[in-house]
Amino acid sequence: MLPFARVTIIGLGLIGSSIARAVRQHMPTVRLTGYDMDPAVRETAVRIELCDDVADSAGTAVIDADLVILCVPVGAMGAAAAELAADLPAEAIVSDVGSCKAMVIEAVATALPNAVFVPAHPVAGTENSGPEAGFATLFHHRWCIITPPEGTDALAIERVSEFWRRLGALVETMAPDHHDRVLAVTSHLPHLIAYTIVGTASDMEEVTQSEVIKYSAGGFRDFTRIAASDPTMWRDVFLANREAVLDMLQRFSEDLSALQRAIRWGKGDELFDLFTKTRAIRRSIIEQGQDDAAPDFGRSHE
Ligand code: NAP
Repeated sequence: MLPFARVTIIGLGLIGSSIARAVRQHMPTVRLTGYDMDPAVRETAVRIELCDDVADSAGTAVIDADLVILCVPVGAMGAAAAELAADLPAEAIVSDVGSCKAMVIEAVATALPNAVFVPAHPVAGTENSGPEAGFATLFHHRWCIITPPEGTDALAIERVSEFWRRLGALVETMAPDHHDRVLAVTSHLPHLIAYTIVGTASDMEEVTQSEVIKYSAGGFRDFTRIAASDPTMWRDVFLANREAVLDMLQRFSEDLSALQRAIRWGKGDELFDLFTKTRAIRRSIIEQGQDDAAPDFGRSHE
């Protein structure tokens, strides 16, 4: 039996539209309703037939839903939840896809104190945004982390977990604070580093912008993919996960200083040992099916 029959997606960007497409593919009998604050996004969603219905308000969108998924930037979760509060059916389960959890849980609990909320984070994405950027296979063999606050109804957790499994995801459960620390190091810090490197390169005076772009195949371009990620989403992530990010950043700065020292004092062994360790990490990611083994990210060299 399907875990849900009537699913509403609030926020029809990359993640919301990917969920819609994946639901269509894997659970075609589910009635799908969508809503986005942006009228242009709603128009696009209608044109590309993303959902069965695209509602003009959050309230209308949720009126007969049994699952409501908030797919808006983390800083907008509280407002999005408050907008639908008056029309949310008592038996509906609310979930989300936010990239950090503790703050989202707090914001949703304030807006919807009586709702059953099962927070989730699909660890899958691209650098693109908007309803046309989504695709049905985005979650295939990617982890979706469910972070239920203590006391969350076990059946509700299982139904949301099953929903994600049906979309092709692997499901893991984690405490919200632990999630925020893990993601600070695996996702938020790498984004911060990429934003910094790309920013530094574009501010250099003695190396021109055109040279940075022309010779980017030396490594720079791999950072630009991450640094092209949505500015609103990432501003919100850093503000919402401030403590964990600052903590990881402190450790990173210390490690960077150690590397600086190793280079200054010509300690080649230290550099070699670290680079050997990091190479093994790349291999583990490939072995666990979390990236393709094709060299150079599968770029064509013809
Ligand atoms: P996106 O493509 O920018 O889509 C978000 C959509 O939500 C936009 O159309 C936005 O409209 C709309 N919106 C904002 N506030 C709203 C509100 N109060 N009510 C209804 N709609 C609202 O962003 P996304 O990449 O799908 O990210 C959505 C969520 O997924 C974020 O919480 C993010 O942390 C999480 N996530 C993202 C990724 C990723 O790689 N992108 C991966 C995993 C999880 P406007 O553009 O007009 O603001």
